[in-house]
Amino acid sequence: MIVIDNAAIATIDRDRRELAGGHVVVDGKRIVAVGIGPAPAYDGARVIDGRGCLVTPGFVNTHQHLYQWVTRGLAADATLFGWLTKLYPVWAGLDEESVHVAAQGALAQLARTGCTTAADHHYVFPRRGGDLLEAEISAAAKVGLRFHPARGSMDLGEKDGGLPPDSVVEDRDEILLATEAAIDRWHDPSPDSMLRIAVAPCSPFSVTAELMREAAELARRKNVRLHTHLAETVDEVSWCDERFGCTPSQYAADLGWTGSDVWFAHGIHFDDAEIKNLGRSATGIAHCPSSNARLGAGIARVADLRAAGCPVGLGVDGAASNEAGSLLEELRHALLFARARPVGAGGGGDPQALDVRTALELATLDGARILGRQDEIGSVEVGKLADLAVWRLDTLGHAGITDPIAALILGPPPPLELLLVNGRPVVEHDTVVTIDEQTLARQVAQTHHDLLTKTT
Ligand code: ZN
Repeated sequence: MIVIDNAAIATIDRDRRELAGGHVVVDGKRIVAVGIGPAPAYDGARVIDGRGCLVTPGFVNTHQHLYQWVTRGLAADATLFGWLTKLYPVWAGLDEESVHVAAQGALAQLARTGCTTAADHHYVFPRRGGDLLEAEISAAAKVGLRFHPARGSMDLGEKDGGLPPDSVVEDRDEILLATEAAIDRWHDPSPDSMLRIAVAPCSPFSVTAELMREAAELARRKNVRLHTHLAETVDEVSWCDERFGCTPSQYAADLGWTGSDVWFAHGIHFDDAEIKNLGRSATGIAHCPSSNARLGAGIARVADLRAAGCPVGLGVDGAASNEAGSLLEELRHALLFARARPVGAGGGGDPQALDVRTALELATLDGARILGRQDEIGSVEVGKLADLAVWRLDTLGHAGITDPIAALILGPPPPLELLLVNGRPVVEHDTVVTIDEQTLARQVAQTHHDLLTKTT
């Protein structure tokens, strides 16, 4: 049993209660008490003094490519298509060992920045690469995060008019068989599940329409969720217009890709009518502001998407287009970019476009909704799973900011005093306790070097 006492608590519960000096009690995997004032005494409980700290629900990362942790820093000034063209040949050298190391690095960084549930989208499966899904699933078990890997895929290579080289695409029937086998082997639908699989062809310009349609049918037959990249760049919008004569969202809708079981990464280039349609079907969006800025892709219309009825979560995206890989940084960037986004003819922004509390909600309850876990995680409430972040806000960087949520999001990244996943400590005193950070850092550097050597 763990008792966190005397802390500020942002519950994100139904009433959006914020407690100035309260307690949270965890028994096993679940939260058993949340309240104002000190907790009652529990025999044998570990008591954490939460003075100077803010407790939030653990963050939910809704889009990532863990393998990219070992291919960071390349094509630093390129657009999406230029960046992909540079990186596909490097990724062709991926194997079980490199993915296992990369996934541990990316997941450890997510944990250090408040993330307790991580979705991943792995779509590069080189021949002779081994079982890359298993490599990242075992990495997540080691680090200790709740994990939602999406079995990605590409079947539209250069010879058929797609963007990826033919060496990294797979055969459509093999993809569907491997995806179904992954669901049967790994997917755990139970309420306290640590592992759920989604179906995730990569993007319109790397996947055939047939695979998109059959993937949607497979996901519905197996009752799992659907994920892909959509409307990330103006290049993609032009590509869809030239090839299909419609927008990316119309293309996706025609293939069965709308609904509350679908979430799209990015969703930047939608017009008003598209946003209305997506909202009506409650299709989710994984907003990745840092990656979108790094690749000059644009800024998603977060306020409009939310107003229309789309759940919007946050994602760090792959670390090759967001080297920081910090989920806390995405809260800050989501807020700043939403406000800086020009509205109207004058070119000015809107300071009311996204407030700090909504930014926190994107990272927690809305992210949980996107993954279908809103009844289990995403808020600090009795009966929910004990996925909690305890942020230290009495340091020089935050002292004097009286609103703890503003301090967390507008101030510098604070130390993470404690991160619990399923009631188990993963971070303590700003250090990941489930792996050795220094050893892992050396393995990441070596793997990066080996992969680059192999492909040049
Ligand atoms: Zn992505």
